[in-house]
Amino acid sequence: TGDALFQPERRNSAGIDFDYPPDLAKTLAARAPFMKSSFTAAPTNATDLTTGEDVQNPNDFSDIVGTVHHASPEQIEDAFAQAKPWEALHPERILVLNRAADLFEEEFGQVFAILAREAGKTLPDCLAELREAVDFIRYYAVQAQASPQPAVGIFACVSPWNFPLAIFTGQIVAALSTGNAVLAKPAESTPLIAALAVSLFHKAGVPKTALQLLPGTGATVGQALTSDPRVDGVCFTGSTGTAHRIRKNIANNLSTGAPLVAETGGINAMIVDSTALMEQAVSDVIASAFQSAGQRCSALRCVYVQSDVAQEFETMIAGAMDLLNIGDPADISTDIGPVISEVARKSIQDYIDEARTNGRVMKELARPENGHFVGPTLLKTPGGLKDMPREVFGPVLHYTTFNSEDFERVLADVNASGYGLTFGLHSRIDARVEVVKATLNVGNLYVNRNQIGAIVGSQPFGGEGLSGTGPKAGGPYYLARFTRPNAPDDQE
Ligand code: GLU
Repeated sequence: TGDALFQPERRNSAGIDFDYPPDLAKTLAARAPFMKSSFTAAPTNATDLTTGEDVQNPNDFSDIVGTVHHASPEQIEDAFAQAKPWEALHPERILVLNRAADLFEEEFGQVFAILAREAGKTLPDCLAELREAVDFIRYYAVQAQASPQPAVGIFACVSPWNFPLAIFTGQIVAALSTGNAVLAKPAESTPLIAALAVSLFHKAGVPKTALQLLPGTGATVGQALTSDPRVDGVCFTGSTGTAHRIRKNIANNLSTGAPLVAETGGINAMIVDSTALMEQAVSDVIASAFQSAGQRCSALRCVYVQSDVAQEFETMIAGAMDLLNIGDPADISTDIGPVISEVARKSIQDYIDEARTNGRVMKELARPENGHFVGPTLLKTPGGLKDMPREVFGPVLHYTTFNSEDFERVLADVNASGYGLTFGLHSRIDARVEVVKATLNVGNLYVNRNQIGAIVGSQPFGGEGLSGTGPKAGGPYYLARFTRPNAPDDQE
């Protein structure tokens, strides 16, 4: 809309052109000092740092990236005692948050090193993640200033390892910019980047009472925070199953009106019809399914290709897969890094191995021996989504074909899956775009492009059905859930 409330003036962060040798050299030089450093994550109020656990690089097990100290029950208790909503009002709040965004950008070398070593992120993924985090800060800061509302109280923010900086930051800054106190539990496998982010917020001037880090497992810290009546709202990104558990915790223990903002899983599809520009479609399928080793909830899981062009698609996708470099994410020539953990690797590999025994593997790329790698794989899946009982969170693409007259049946199958996060359409028939728009229950529909990497402020991101509660992150309605409606007294 053109309404100033919804589009206050702001700018998305600047990129870096890694194809321009001087800028690549500058980036690598800024990152180099941190490629061997050891980092620490600990509860904000920790005094005794003796019982840490190693954080291992998923690409190279000999690289210990740092140490994490999980929050003890006493430290969680103390965090509640300390927690105090952020009293500073705008414009001070926006100034502090914008200073944090600037610090994030200044520390890009350190950020890229930790994201590569702790989360296995390739250099382009590191950059995209940093930019998204910075965009969230500036976008929510400006939104909150434009439309001030009373805070809810104490927010528990529980974030995922696949966007350990961007989503971690987005949750926190949504709650902080609206004046809440935040208790942040980072994902178990990526506490170090979260600790850096929190330290930069504090350095920028966010009080420690308003933002506290509580590293730990879901079963301990996550469970404790989401079932404590002192928590007034929960922001969560992760699996649909965990979101259901959190909702139960909230129902049983928190106040009846406590908001839950959840972004969860998806089993996302794309249709490539016979009018698609095949080179473009294939390159977008590769990016959507395999970039970030398929570890995005937006990633493409099942592509439906119209039978008339199936042969052409099969030849071209096999060729495009052969061009992918799988390996050390810190190396600029790498396209696909490792998956996050041994548990993840084994579960994805078991799934592929089972498909192999059923003769469904059409193509599987070799994977490096060391590290938690899975070779990008294409699986024949005649029933499409109907043959996919669960989200496989890795570089596995399911493939099926459809006849033109079955177009609407495919859409019905997408809706029947119950999930509704992203959907891709490659078609040059405008009427089909309209049918898809009118029919599908999905949060993000992408036409004639890839279906990952939503841009804050331009492409609000979030799902429907089993994929999330809304409102969409990076969109104009998101902050409303972090505030109380400001109705005049006589209307409350
Ligand atoms: N926002 C990300 C994207 O558009 C995905 C977030 C997620 O995986 O949770 O690709």
